[in-house]
Amino acid sequence: MSAMPPANPASTPFGSSPTYLMACQQLRAVARETGLDEGVTDRLMFPKRSQVVAVPVRMEDGRTETFIGYRVQHSLTSGPSKGGLRYAKNVDLGEVAALAMWMSWKCGIMNLPFGGAKGGIAVDPAELRGGEKERLTRRFTDEIQNIIGPRVDVMAPDMGTDEQTMAWIYDTYSMKVGYACPEIVTGKPVELGGCVGRREATGRGVTYCITEAFDELGIRPETATAVVQGFGNVGSVTCDELVKRGAKVVAIGDRYGAIRNDRGINIAKLSEHVARNERKTVAGFPEAEAIPDAELLTTPCTVLVPAAMERVITEANAGKLRCRVLAEGANGPTTPEADAVLARSDIHIVPDVLCNAGGVTVSYFEWVQDLAQFMWDEEEVNSQLKKQMLRAFRRVRAEAKARRVSNRTAALSLGVQKVAREKAKRRLYP
Ligand code: GLU
Repeated sequence: MSAMPPANPASTPFGSSPTYLMACQQLRAVARETGLDEGVTDRLMFPKRSQVVAVPVRMEDGRTETFIGYRVQHSLTSGPSKGGLRYAKNVDLGEVAALAMWMSWKCGIMNLPFGGAKGGIAVDPAELRGGEKERLTRRFTDEIQNIIGPRVDVMAPDMGTDEQTMAWIYDTYSMKVGYACPEIVTGKPVELGGCVGRREATGRGVTYCITEAFDELGIRPETATAVVQGFGNVGSVTCDELVKRGAKVVAIGDRYGAIRNDRGINIAKLSEHVARNERKTVAGFPEAEAIPDAELLTTPCTVLVPAAMERVITEANAGKLRCRVLAEGANGPTTPEADAVLARSDIHIVPDVLCNAGGVTVSYFEWVQDLAQFMWDEEEVNSQLKKQMLRAFRRVRAEAKARRVSNRTAALSLGVQKVAREKAKRRLYP
């Protein structure tokens, strides 16, 4: 029998997305490194199940507008699939598939009993008015009702969605099944069975990783400076947590602009500024100077935290980074080409699938609490989060040192191998 050539991701329905091709490129590199079976690699390249839905919404002006929504479940091998729901203008099937794949590796590294999933609706949430976001969310939930469930696929917030979005999904699903079902989503309001500390969890996890990396490099947090891209849930909490540890945040940017103050940006005042202005942006903050967007990532600092978009550190700017640690709060911020450039520098990378895994880890705690109907206090949540983040961080570092590979390769191999091992044990059906 002649061997089949490996599958070509570019010729799949996901293949027009550079983010999806990037996720496949990473997977292939790890498969080569770990000697993963080619058939298994091919399977892991393609999500198990994807649903594309039309979501018609009655707009405030009486028109009906139709949005395109996606839910992609990469793996159902280890338990229900798990991952966020993103509202962003340019979201497409391939991007969601890549993010779903990364969720599988993330859950694998953290040893959570979940596969990876992701959802998205192509919409700019800043343009939605009145009840449009609620109607969009409820109709989307209805359209994908047949493939979600507390034991099937559990959503959570991501870019452009929040606790309120999860509350609408929870209510819509519960109305359908006829009983209150909090375990259908995580990242809900605490009053509805959400977990205390879930909102802060990703930023806290990022900070634990940063302080661990500092420890290893002999850097004291009080002497450190930070540059953060994104001031949403992940970026803002990371800033708060770093400042609590004595670090100075010297530059921050978002989609509307970037600001810099070498004496340290007052995060509490900045948060007030963001809450007050209509576009919810850091731009225009009076106690810092405006800098060009392109300068943000190359601003000298101890730790650089991209906490917004994927693919922002590229071959073009990777050589210009002036940080000691790169802590990836966002999913997929660094392209493989940029990785090759960074490999020749002394920048210590904490890769996304480890660095931002605090969010899904506390999502797991939330799901467990909802299933057991027994809630933990914040102290318990935070100490478990810290324990699990540090354990994962140390496993990744040990793997990287033992095999002389990058932190990214080490983290991805731990995640990929966990999924592959479970697949091997379950065997192929039928
Ligand atoms: N959207 C978050 C992520 O990318 C959290 C996912 C979750 O909690 O399920 O990791």
